[in-house]
Amino acid sequence: MIEINGREGEGGGQIVRSSLALAAVTGQPVRITHIRGGRKKPGLLRQHLAGVRAIQQVCSGEVSGDQLGSCELTLVPGELSGGDYRFEVGSAGSAVLVAQTILPVLLHADAPSTITIGGGTHASWAPPFDFFLRCYLPLLARMNANVDADIESYGFYPAGGGRMVMKVKPSTGMNGLELMERGGRLKPSVTALVSRIPESVGQRECDVIARKTGWDKKAFQVVDVQQAGGPGNVVMIELGFDNVSELIIGFGKLGVKAEQVARAALREARAHLASEVPVGVYLADQLLLPMGLAARNGYRSEFCTGPLSLHSQTHIDVLQRFLNVDIRCISNENGTVHVSVE
Ligand code: ATP
Repeated sequence: MIEINGREGEGGGQIVRSSLALAAVTGQPVRITHIRGGRKKPGLLRQHLAGVRAIQQVCSGEVSGDQLGSCELTLVPGELSGGDYRFEVGSAGSAVLVAQTILPVLLHADAPSTITIGGGTHASWAPPFDFFLRCYLPLLARMNANVDADIESYGFYPAGGGRMVMKVKPSTGMNGLELMERGGRLKPSVTALVSRIPESVGQRECDVIARKTGWDKKAFQVVDVQQAGGPGNVVMIELGFDNVSELIIGFGKLGVKAEQVARAALREARAHLASEVPVGVYLADQLLLPMGLAARNGYRSEFCTGPLSLHSQTHIDVLQRFLNVDIRCISNENGTVHVSVE
């Protein structure tokens, strides 16, 4: 049994999600102790528990310690089964994080899957659905992973109540990916979503960004979302290039002016553009696992990113516990980091 200490490195929820996914894919039992030991309120929260239950079902696993607040968990994985599944995260807990957790397992399953997940689709501290669809999945497609995703209902913080559907075809084997350059010229697009909030809020967000960037008016849209679990507003700046896209999100909040939300998102977008790296800080930690699985098939991957987050460093440690892969990170003088996985 592989033993993972959940308070090492960042000590957050990703250690749990990745350990379970890797245990299921590799067929190795795992015990995770000190779950989320680096967080103020350690133990499994509702959204982590949803991930545990989802993994348990898709790998017919035997699990103990799957209670709210639990700080220790074991999984003995069984057969990986594709099929139709429905999972509920509850409130605005991220549906996308649950999707990402079971995705590697379903790619290795015996049959195609259709997964419906209820929860937050555009929640803070998690990949927004649009990031998953427009930045993450296209890269997985290049690694030979055939995944579709659709949104049936938007789930904004705090009401949640969104619903996404993911369709996964088992992969014939993950390939490597090379992402050293963004490629081509910037193709920006900005989408402001509003639900049960005046469209003018989204319009003001777009206006600020349009004025400050001079981007073509056609790059901007305001969408009044009809299907949503509650009210909400986000503005998303997509920075599209030939090889990769980045998506920066700003969350509208009560008491915070639309202009402020837009300016903060634009600052983040500009910082990413100025860094010149193809892979942003979030994408970096999310690509490591599929790249690890490709390396297990004998395919090398590499990418260029900015300084590695503690999140990524922790993720690398977890990957190396399960997979016999070599992950190297070389820092360059200009602050960029070259990551190779083989
Ligand atoms: P904890 O509650 O312990 O922090 P968690 O499960 O909520 O755990 P993390 O372990 O921090 O969260 O993992 C969050 C994941 O969401 C990471 O993979 C990170 O890359 C991703 N993420 C967070 N914010 C964004 C964002 N704005 N865009 C894309 N991905 C994001």
